[in-house]
Amino acid sequence: MQCLFCSIVEKKFPSKEIYEDKKVFAFHDVRPQAPIHILIVPKKHVSTVLDIETADNELMGHMFQVANKIARDQGIAEKGFRLVLNCNRQAGQTVFHVHLHLLGGRLMKWPPG
Ligand code: 5GP
Ligand code: ZN
Repeated sequence: MQCLFCSIVEKKFPSKEIYEDKKVFAFHDVRPQAPIHILIVPKKHVSTVLDIETADNELMGHMFQVANKIARDQGIAEKGFRLVLNCNRQAGQTVFHVHLHLLGGRLMKWPPG
């Protein structure tokens, strides 16, 4: 079966796109956990954080730059936002294509659930 986020990146499956460049795609989460909940994914398929290779280092850094840009564009940079990366089942990973959750627009609690 085709990977869901690869399908979204290739626009074979619809999403509410918010940002795109050569390496990264970002779209609204379909089940938002905060007023702003955006997923930032590498266009390259990488299953989990454990599968990140040295050759992906620049790509991963770029994902954080994109997250910063989107946070600023959405007006949540100054107040604060949360970036989440779930790795494997016990952490709550359900889609096995690396994605950075960008959450904001409300007060975040700690520790996370
Ligand atoms: P994970 O649980 O793997 O860290 O995050 C997967 C996220 O993908 C969840 O927050 C879930 O709501 C979101 N998601 C699952 N299927 C879809 C979909 O078809 N479209 C969008 N936009 N988000 C999805
Ligand atoms: Zn994929």
